[in-house]
Amino acid sequence: MSRKGNLFIVSGPSGAGKDTVVERFFELNERSDVHLSVSATTRAPRPGEQEGVNYYFMTHDGFRQKVAEGGFLEWAEFCDNLYGTPRDKVISKLESGIDVILVIEVQGAAQVRKLFPDSVGVFMLCPSFAVQRQRLVDRGTETAESIEKRIATAREEVESAAMYDYVIINRVVDNSAAELETIIMSERLKVKNNKKIIEEVRKS
Ligand code: 5GP
Repeated sequence: MSRKGNLFIVSGPSGAGKDTVVERFFELNERSDVHLSVSATTRAPRPGEQEGVNYYFMTHDGFRQKVAEGGFLEWAEFCDNLYGTPRDKVISKLESGIDVILVIEVQGAAQVRKLFPDSVGVFMLCPSFAVQRQRLVDRGTETAESIEKRIATAREEVESAAMYDYVIINRVVDNSAAELETIIMSERLKVKNNKKIIEEVRKS
């Protein structure tokens, strides 16, 4: 049976807990059939962030060069930094039947939706902006100015929720990770994603 992987886009305001939920999903599931894309960024690493694990950290010039070479599937500017999805790995994983998760902001998501109309959009939200602000403060990685900028951006981003197929309100991380798994499994079971196997059974 050969099937192409499904492409999942997880977006949502900074502080909604996207990375934490996706990380928890992998902890709970140990899946080799789902790949998490590692993005490139010009933002400085936060304490504890590792090159090639959290991001590929690049200079502005290096990033622009990669843009010019067509090395990104999508890229966008977010709160004064550039972020992009390296193209090749995503394509090769999908081709080999592995589902791919992109955790990206809404402008990049819109670009991916155009390129991959069958991609599945998942929008993650905090239960409220007050909770979001508190999470960003608790995270301790952002300056006061960056927090305000991220909250302002979040208010704009929420307006994009209608572009997505699913929503996860992230109250409890484990529940949200289970909801993400449900979404991934549901997509796999869709008839439109199983035409080949149905045909194989029909011919057997
Ligand atoms: P952070 O600086 O908090 O790691 O990320 C800021 C925002 O950029 C988050 O919404 C994150 O999901 C998004 N982001 C991370 N990687 C990419 C990417 O490759 N492309 C785009 N468009 N957004 C990204």
